[in-house]
Amino acid sequence: MRGNLAGPRILLRRLREAMAKPTDAQERLNEIVTLIAANMVAEVCSVYVLRADNLLELFATQGLNPSAVHQTSLKVGEGLVGHIASDARHLNLSEPQNHPAFVYRPETGEEAYHAFLGVPILRAGRILGVLVVQNKTTRTYSDEEVEAMQTTAMVLAELIASGELGSLAGSDGDLDLNRPMQISGLSMAEGIGLGHVVLHEPRVVVTNLIAEDAIAEEKRLEAAIERLRLSVDDLLNRDDISHGGEHRDILEAYRMFAYDRGWVRRMKEAIHSGLTAEAAVERVQSDTRARMLRSTDPYLRERLHDFDDLANRLLRKLMGGKGSLDSAHLPYDAIIVARNMGAAELLDYGRDRLRGLVLEEGAPTSHVVIVARALGIPTVGQVEGAVTVCEDGDAIIVDGDMAQIHLRPLPDMEASYVEQVKFRAHRLEQYSKLRDKPAITKDGTRVDLFMNAGLLVDLPNVEGAGAQGIGLFRTELQFMVAESFPRMREQEKVYRAVLDATGGLPVTFRSLDVGGDKVLAFLRLAPEENPAMGWRAIRLGLDRPGLLRTQMRALLHAAAGRHLRLMFPMISEVGEFDAAKELFEREIAHLERHGYEKPVQIELGAMLEVPSLLFQLDDLMSRLDFVSIGTNDLHQFMMASDRGNTRLSGRYSSLSPSFLRALGQVLEKGKEHNVPITVCGEIAGRPLAAMALLALGYRTLSMSPSSIGPIKSMVLDLPLDELTKTFDDVLAQAISGQEIRDFLTGFAQKHDVSL
Ligand code: PEP
Ligand code: MG
Repeated sequence: MRGNLAGPRILLRRLREAMAKPTDAQERLNEIVTLIAANMVAEVCSVYVLRADNLLELFATQGLNPSAVHQTSLKVGEGLVGHIASDARHLNLSEPQNHPAFVYRPETGEEAYHAFLGVPILRAGRILGVLVVQNKTTRTYSDEEVEAMQTTAMVLAELIASGELGSLAGSDGDLDLNRPMQISGLSMAEGIGLGHVVLHEPRVVVTNLIAEDAIAEEKRLEAAIERLRLSVDDLLNRDDISHGGEHRDILEAYRMFAYDRGWVRRMKEAIHSGLTAEAAVERVQSDTRARMLRSTDPYLRERLHDFDDLANRLLRKLMGGKGSLDSAHLPYDAIIVARNMGAAELLDYGRDRLRGLVLEEGAPTSHVVIVARALGIPTVGQVEGAVTVCEDGDAIIVDGDMAQIHLRPLPDMEASYVEQVKFRAHRLEQYSKLRDKPAITKDGTRVDLFMNAGLLVDLPNVEGAGAQGIGLFRTELQFMVAESFPRMREQEKVYRAVLDATGGLPVTFRSLDVGGDKVLAFLRLAPEENPAMGWRAIRLGLDRPGLLRTQMRALLHAAAGRHLRLMFPMISEVGEFDAAKELFEREIAHLERHGYEKPVQIELGAMLEVPSLLFQLDDLMSRLDFVSIGTNDLHQFMMASDRGNTRLSGRYSSLSPSFLRALGQVLEKGKEHNVPITVCGEIAGRPLAAMALLALGYRTLSMSPSSIGPIKSMVLDLPLDELTKTFDDVLAQAISGQEIRDFLTGFAQKHDVSL
């Protein structure tokens, strides 16, 4: 089948020369079609490029009527060329006029041709155009010729992606590649960010396309595949995952692809058409992506990510890890685009240059999103296809308020956003004027607004946002950004800095809450089937008491002579609180024994995040000083709905009557036992949900710093007595969160409460 192998390589070499010539874009393209036609012994060679208005425009031809160039165009799906673009598959036909999709364009003079071969021009699975050859004789093109055309199309993809052809389009229209796009998603963190795309996992860019020695390239490919297979087998054989779970399923899918003979065969064929091993991997990856993206089978579409990961691994093996972005070279206005990412990975970028975050997946209470919100990074999640349509360096706007992204925005759009940014800055200024004003409702009830924090960069916000202190200090964030386990003195330093920066305002520290989706690079935890319900938070702390006691000691030292408030996360039964308290008392005894100064006052609390505790409230409240409700976890466990699962986000309302009733009952119990109850989950920072919490009787809320302004302004407008009067009845009768939402929205409108 391989026959004369020198042909395609000679063509590729000539194309490379043509690409390098200092000539104008049209001439270059004309030379390219002439070269292809000659090499394929075809009378016609034409290039169609996809425009932003979804038309495939004839950009160059050898053989068809030259006056049709930049005049003739076909819609995607129309004619043979349109058909190839919509299917992302080649068409190899004798007597093309008999094909049902054939349409006749008189201006081209196409009628005389009896053989047709067209291939899609693809980049990362995206259609950029179509390349066609035609012959007068009736014939079918060989597999080898199809292969050579696909390889040639890859060179054309590079030319189109370089942007050189943009100015040639016949109409005023732009190329599809540069098309402005607007994609909607789900708002995860408010705010507007203007900047440039940084792909979190940059596509490995293959620059060396053409190889002279196919045998050597085949050997390189084989060696890389061998290493790839070994590494996947290795991962699968590791003890900690051999028991199964989602992680294992993904690796099984990797293995399936890694051993797929069709995949390897297609890559070898691409090598024999003249490509380097890495260019062959990329070409086959692009074809496969295009096909999987068009598949209606959800299983196949989901596997696309696995396949992509594997192909990228193979590319890295071939290219020795080149291609990943050096974070020192981040643009000053980076907008990170990722399928999904961990909180620690986001922190790795450094706050200074981050203007926004776009996730294909993500859920509002996942930790990466909480961190983004804490850092004030506008974030839109669930943006389908974001990674495919964004190119590194593209201009982009993230609109966290309207849950949209604007890719390659037109100047008008950009100008209007610049205005909005100014307007927002003005609003923030208004909020900052409220900074020193206490949050008192219209009818005189005082509400205490605290801030959630976790990093030293958060601290200036306490004053800036006008918080009354820190209601939740997530100590694990320090651990998540560290490269090795922070020692006791390092921890102490951070805790002391927090207490210093807050200047006597109350700070509630939470003991280490790792595990689940909060991973520490240096603490290898065995993968779990249900990590959110696994070995995390206080469970891990009690099983590794050395770890918890080190943290307690660091906190006690840092708070010497001051007030220390500490709470334990994920308490499921009161015994766990007792056990943690006992460890803490041992640390105090240690302090006393060694004559260290103690805090002047200590308060211990528990986070209510696990529903079982709702049925042990009397026992719980009789033994602690305060309770803070972690509604993110409590909601996920009450609703049995993974907080990080994209498909479930928004399915169960945080205003659902069952959930709000539970919150109401906790507060009643708190009053009975004289134990203060606060809310520190994300709902405390959403004006509508916070209205519900106030109506239930909550008076202390802790939220991300950017929410304090909006919540305070809501509180100042709120006639709380009137709301409370009706809210009890609404809650007693409602059977859905939507009813409660409608009631609260109506109330806010009627009373001019700013939301
Ligand atoms: C919560 O679960 O609501 C909470 C505040 O803790 P985290 O979001 O850190 O799990
Ligand atoms: Mg929690």
